[in-house]
Parts: sequence; structure tokens; C-alpha cells
Amino acid sequence: MGTTLPKKGKDWSELKTEMEARGSHDVKWRDGKTAVYVFNAGPEVAQVQKEAYAMFMSENGLGPMAFPSLKQMEDEVVSMGLGLLHGPDGSVGNITSGGTDSITMAIKTARDFARKTKGVTGQCNIVAPWSAHPAFDKAAKMMEIEMRRVPCADLLADVGAMEKKIDANTIMLVGSAPCFPYGLIDPIEALGKLAEKKNLWLHVDACVGGYIAPFVRMNGGDIPPFDFEVPSVSSMSADLHKYGYCAKGASTVLFRSEELRAHMIFDCADWPGGRMVTPTLAGTRPGGAIAAAWAVMNFLGEEGYRAKHKQVTDAREAIEAGIAKLGFRVLGRPQLGIVSFTHDEEDPFAVWGKLFERGWFTSLTTEPKGLHLMLSPFHAQVTGTYLADLEWALGEVKAGNEGKKREARYS
Ligand SMILES: *Cc1c(COP(=O)(O)O)cnc(C)c1O
Repeated sequence: MGTTLPKKGKDWSELKTEMEARGSHDVKWRDGKTAVYVFNAGPEVAQVQKEAYAMFMSENGLGPMAFPSLKQMEDEVVSMGLGLLHGPDGSVGNITSGGTDSITMAIKTARDFARKTKGVTGQCNIVAPWSAHPAFDKAAKMMEIEMRRVPCADLLADVGAMEKKIDANTIMLVGSAPCFPYGLIDPIEALGKLAEKKNLWLHVDACVGGYIAPFVRMNGGDIPPFDFEVPSVSSMSADLHKYGYCAKGASTVLFRSEELRAHMIFDCADWPGGRMVTPTLAGTRPGGAIAAAWAVMNFLGEEGYRAKHKQVTDAREAIEAGIAKLGFRVLGRPQLGIVSFTHDEEDPFAVWGKLFERGWFTSLTTEPKGLHLMLSPFHAQVTGTYLADLEWALGEVKAGNEGKKREARYS
């Protein structure tokens, strides 16, 4: 028998102590040793997140009439997001619980749009690059939609190969800006041309790029068109709780027009509780996540984001320069906060294992085998330590392999 509810409640101070003790075994992200799962934009942003979240923690975004404050904050967050992503006049969106929720809702909307306006009746399918996020597969599975993943060319969406997978039941084309595994922006303009030619819904998954790419461009980066600037982009997902530095539980799903979004809204009156209208997957919507998003965006403003993201790209550039000296090879030409790199002689997974021994918790790529970093502003302070530990880790792996070769020679 596992844990059961305690008969008598315990003191909060006792519980807090126990929770702190449990947390002490987690990865040391506060020291900058984690480059996945957590975005560390520093103590000031963390304070704004926490206080704003706590202020509206009990309020519920399900009830816009009861909580006009949350409705107003959601509308303003969406409007700021659309402003950054070239949303045209009439573009709209909602806050969701995260990227998976945003992607799920975009797919549901595209499917219902295709059924209602294009007469698609058969088994629907989605055509996506192999590097697209598994959230697409999860949503497709729930809605019994077929996912057609198409191998990448040079780690990017292969538009020609994707075209061959399109048929009359295709409801959506997908491009990522950037994809999670390599941090590279797919050729969205070329995908846009294909979508236009085939009269298809193009979704740009900017979950991890939507709130960094516009600022990297303002900072001088040559970011190609990837958002609503590309005329045939119908919808986008962009996570506030990633490079928007907002509290977890917040993403945006954005549509070119109300006409498209109309297919997302769920409106049900056939039950005894009265009419219930919900835009996204959630019923109850945490007011804290909406309030924290609004507060962080207004706290940072354009200048704040530009400065934070400059730290991210500086950290990435410092790491790229350092790893090249160690014989690693960067995958593609990353421009935002993710960088993946491989080694042509030593096993990156073995290097990862050694780094883990030194307290680093980062991600991996499988094809090709590589190390993966999703960087935060805080990482600008630890690139030196990371590179020193990486050099050590590589040395350990090399020494181990040379030892093995020697043994093989003399046995
Ligand atoms: C993180 C991510 C998602 C999923 O977002 P969650 O908030 O984790 O559900 C989707 N696509 C990309 C490219 C991502 O990086």
C-alpha cells in the first residue's frame, strides 16, 4: 500500500521543510547547470512571476464575466503576442496551458475548418517535418488524425518531400520556428508557398521561438520571415512559459482571423448547467498563469526582452566558439536559444554521461547523436564552467576509449 491521506493534517512549517528537502535532490537549475525544462531569467523576473501568480491564483479564467480583469489581461497578452508576430488586422488568439494545448487546439481548429469549409470527410492527415514536436502526434492520436512525418533535408523541413505526402484529406502543414531538437527555423516562406498552392492550413509551431525570435531580429539577427508575415500562415503556437519568461502553464495559440478561430470555440448548452463556452481545451483556467504572463511582459517590455535574449544569444555564441575548439560540430546554423552539437570521433552520449556526473542536466539529439542545450539568460554567467566541464568530459571519454583500444591490442 502506498501513501494514504494523513488522518490529521500536519503543520505547514513541517511540510515546507520536507518539501525543501525533497527539492534538494532535484537538478541544480538555480546554479545554471540545467539547460532544459527551466528558463532562468533572474530573480527580478521570478519575483514578478510569483507575486502576480499569487495575486490571481484563486481566480478562474473560465469566467470572463466574473473576472473581467483576467479577460482584459488575456486579451492584452494575445495582442502583444500578435504585435510581435506580425498578426494582421483582425488576427486573434487565446492563452492556453502550454504548447501541447496550443498545438492541440490549432489542429482541432484546422480539422473542423477543413470539414466545414472544404468538405473533407475522410481520414484526415497532417504533413509535418520529422523534427516537429511530439505534441502533434499526441493531438493527432486523440483526434484519430494520421500524422505524416517527412524526413528532413539538412535538418530542416524538406518542402518538396512534404508536397508529395499531401492528399485531399490533408488538413494541415506544419513548420517549426524553430524545431526543438536542433533549434533551427524551417523554411517557412517555402512552406507558405506550398500551402498557398495547395490551399492548405499552415501552422507554424513557434512554441520555443515565438517570444525570442522577434527580439533577436531587433538585436540585429537575420531571422527569415517565420510568422504571420508569411501570408499563408493560418495559425501559430508560441509559449509564454518558455522564452516569454512567464510562469509555467501559459502559451498562446494565434489565428490569422476570427473566421478561422471560430472553429476552435466550444459552445455547449445541452446539459442542465446552462450554456458553457470555452475557447481552449481547459475548463477551469488558472488566473495565476494569465496574470503572471501579463505582469512579466509588461515588466520586461521590449527593452527588457531584448537585453535578456542578448544574454541568451551571447551565451550560445560563446558555447559555439568553445565547442568548436574541442572538435565538436554545431548542427546547422542556430540563431536563437537552442544549440545542438555532435562529435565525429567520440560518442556524444558518453560525453553527456560524464557531464551528468558533474551535475549538468541537459538534453540530447538522437539523429545525429548530439548534445542539446536550451539556454537561459542566466547561462551567460556559466559558459566558462560549462566549457571547462565539457573539455574534461570529452577527455575522460577519449581516455576511456584509448584504454579500450590498448586492451584490444594486447589481448
Ligand atoms: C516545448 C515545445 C512544445 C510543447 O510545449 P509544452 O509547453 O511543453 O506542451 C511544442 N513545440 C515545440 C517546438 C516546443 O519546443
